Amino acid sequence: MKALRRFTVRAHLPARLAALGPLSTNLRWSWHPPTQDLFAEIDPKRWVEVGHDPVRILGDVGAGRLDSLARDEGFLARLDAAAADLDDYLARPHWYQKQAQAGTSLPGGIAYFSMEFGVTEVLPNYSGGLGILAGDHLKAASDLGLPLIGVGLLYRSGYFRQSLTADGWQSEHYPALDPQGLPLRLFTDGADSTPVLIHVAMPGNRVLRARVWIAQVGRIPLLLLDSDIAENDPEMRGVTDRLYGGDQDHRIKQEILAGIGGVRAVRAYTHSQGLPDPDVFHMNEGHAGFLGVERIREFISGAGLDFDTALAAVRSGTVFTTHTPVPAGIDRFPADLVRHYFGGGGEGDSGLLPGISLDRIIALGREADPSVFNMAHMGLRLAQRANGVSKLHGEVSRDMFAALWPGFDAAEVPIGSITNGVHAPTWAAKEWLQKARELVGPELVEEAKGWERLYDIDAAELWEMRNLLRRKLTDEVSRRVHASWLERGASEAELGWTANIFDPNVLTIGFARRVPTYKRLTLMLREPERLRALLLDPERPLQLVVAGKSHPADDGGKALIQQVVRFADDAGVRHRIAFLPDYDMSMARFLYWGCDVWLNNPLRPLEACGTSGMKSALNGGLNLSIRDGWWDEMYDGENGWAIPTADGVLDETRRDDLEASALYDLLEKSVLPRFYDRDSAGIPTRWVEMVRHTLQSLGPQVLASRMVRDYAVEYYTPAAAASRKAVADNFAGARELAAYRSRVESAWPQVRVDQVDSAGLPDTPVIGANLSLRANVQLGGLAPTDVVVQAVLGRVSSADDLSEVTAVPMNHVGSDGGGEVFEVETPVPLSGAVGYTVRVLPHSALLAGDAELGLVAAPSL
Ligand SMILES: *Cc1c(COP(=O)(O)O)cnc(C)c1O
Repeated sequence: MKALRRFTVRAHLPARLAALGPLSTNLRWSWHPPTQDLFAEIDPKRWVEVGHDPVRILGDVGAGRLDSLARDEGFLARLDAAAADLDDYLARPHWYQKQAQAGTSLPGGIAYFSMEFGVTEVLPNYSGGLGILAGDHLKAASDLGLPLIGVGLLYRSGYFRQSLTADGWQSEHYPALDPQGLPLRLFTDGADSTPVLIHVAMPGNRVLRARVWIAQVGRIPLLLLDSDIAENDPEMRGVTDRLYGGDQDHRIKQEILAGIGGVRAVRAYTHSQGLPDPDVFHMNEGHAGFLGVERIREFISGAGLDFDTALAAVRSGTVFTTHTPVPAGIDRFPADLVRHYFGGGGEGDSGLLPGISLDRIIALGREADPSVFNMAHMGLRLAQRANGVSKLHGEVSRDMFAALWPGFDAAEVPIGSITNGVHAPTWAAKEWLQKARELVGPELVEEAKGWERLYDIDAAELWEMRNLLRRKLTDEVSRRVHASWLERGASEAELGWTANIFDPNVLTIGFARRVPTYKRLTLMLREPERLRALLLDPERPLQLVVAGKSHPADDGGKALIQQVVRFADDAGVRHRIAFLPDYDMSMARFLYWGCDVWLNNPLRPLEACGTSGMKSALNGGLNLSIRDGWWDEMYDGENGWAIPTADGVLDETRRDDLEASALYDLLEKSVLPRFYDRDSAGIPTRWVEMVRHTLQSLGPQVLASRMVRDYAVEYYTPAAAASRKAVADNFAGARELAAYRSRVESAWPQVRVDQVDSAGLPDTPVIGANLSLRANVQLGGLAPTDVVVQAVLGRVSSADDLSEVTAVPMNHVGSDGGGEVFEVETPVPLSGAVGYTVRVLPHSALLAGDAELGLVAAPSL
């Protein structure tokens, strides 16, 4: 008989064990090995069977075992220590508190929105890199003490679980999650403990309601909206059914709930806790972009602002992070679908967000094609500050979105970059954490400073550690391959060979990631015989462990997986290459710990950042990667290998051939010899040197704490300051900015540079010689203080295009026959063919930069 529904009943803990409750629900255990060990001790065998899940083990264990633990002095001492440690972690001042004490002005609150959060495998609310990054962001924010609140959706089924059919085809299943069995608490109204419900209006007088679950991630609350409640009709109940499942209509409802419902959930939460309203709203990708229009509605209905003033106030405190390097990756909706959900009010008003005109909403997502609503464009229009996720991706993004700033060179597009990072206490093996704690001290590990000190470990000890971690991985590979073959229909009797398939002493290479085409899962199979020879080399073999999920709708991706599986099924090589199904955090961990080399061969520049190689590096893995994303900026020639790219080659087949061949060459000539070249004690000294250099050079740079500090200093703090200024004195700043913007936009067609004269240069100028420029400018009624007039000098091409430019502000010296006169004297910064021009930009202390409004006037040629 099958159950119709399931639910989870939590055990009643004996009073002496009460502390296990908060230790199991605060997800800090997921990056605190001593707390994990404590839960394992309850029942080591069950601990493995329940997938290292504290809530489940407490539900599973018998009352008898709990009673005996309550009398076990040793266990109680360890329990008390873990509980005291958690209390201390939650209360102790961290980086943020110390900065605040030192008088730095910091944000009072940050709301961080993401469609997925990968905090731990026992809360499978993520599909891949984006979600895990969001999880690491929360953990590092907790470690640093930032007053941040995470906001997203809770999916009834997280992303799918992957298994393989007998012939190597991916099959998907979606286990339903019971929120009661997850490390969550329901957000209730303090007075009578009724669940707080969030309401969002839907077309046809319907309402989408959601309850809110709270996952406690150390100090950080993560609010997850869940529409699967009896108060909703069946269609609305299904809104949070699956992550990235369903059609556009389904998806826009999810994004409306995440953005608009998310802001409402934040308000309910901060008010119930007596917390300040967040002054910064961070959109992790454009999916939750509707949060900005909800905040505009709040300002209009609460403070009586007009749309433009409300927009100025919202923009000042909003940060938008883009993660996509290709236009096809951007979230877009048919504009009519947006009209359907947002329209329906009287007189062109939005029904969903009363008081806002539907046209203004549609205009926020405008792109060249008027039938399309572009979520990234909306993100950029709603955020005064925006960034990509590596230096290279910042550059790619400035190019990709340059059309929103016409008249500006891509380099001036106001999109910066913060390179992603990874949370060391989550991704480093506990052996490394232990070592770091000994070398650096506990707080430093927590804030993940001092990782470079691991360089001090001596070669023999370091090599021993690498061997130990590789052995853990090879054991895990055996276990997973065995389980996978059983699932594919093999019988136990034919699986003897899986007992020790990988060799713990052989160079081990990992390749694990989602399987979109650009990541080129099968590049390694380009010359199958060459790969075979490398795997089977009698002296210096390598072994390869591969994993990754394909999007359920992507048959192309599934065919790539099948190609790898078929290759790896061959009895001649299956002890050296394995495809492990169901890549998730619990598997990834073993790969990052144990792989000697982390392989990444995307089609440059389509990997925005990539983080898996960072996790490997933290464990002393060496990266072997195309110079894309983070590796483009952090590869230094000694900390791994860069696979040469055939960037200019347009024929993709040929490009793949060239890059695959370069990969084999590197393996044969550099990677393998280094690994197998041993000294008299059996240590590969040059290899170990590279590992030490990796820990030292990459350790400090790849950390999520570095990333979150960068966001705090470069984005959150200025955004909070701008937001306070916009809101203070009954929105004086926002009013001033909106009035300024409207004044400048209406005057701009009349702004022009009439005449430019130069003087001062001798006939044969040398670099550094002074150039005097005088420009006559029409300002169309604007004051000289409303603008900046710049002399722009740079290298000039035969087509008169300027590059390597320097912009020098010119001084207003008076007016002359109806125009304003600006002058400057400046040294010529370059030798060779040099050119200059003069241009006018809006300038105001209320703007984050002079390019922000996308307005520029230059002399007509
Ligand atoms: C880190 C991680 C990712 C993201 O890795 P990329 O390098 O960005 O592809 C995906 N899945 C899991 C389980 C991870 O741990």
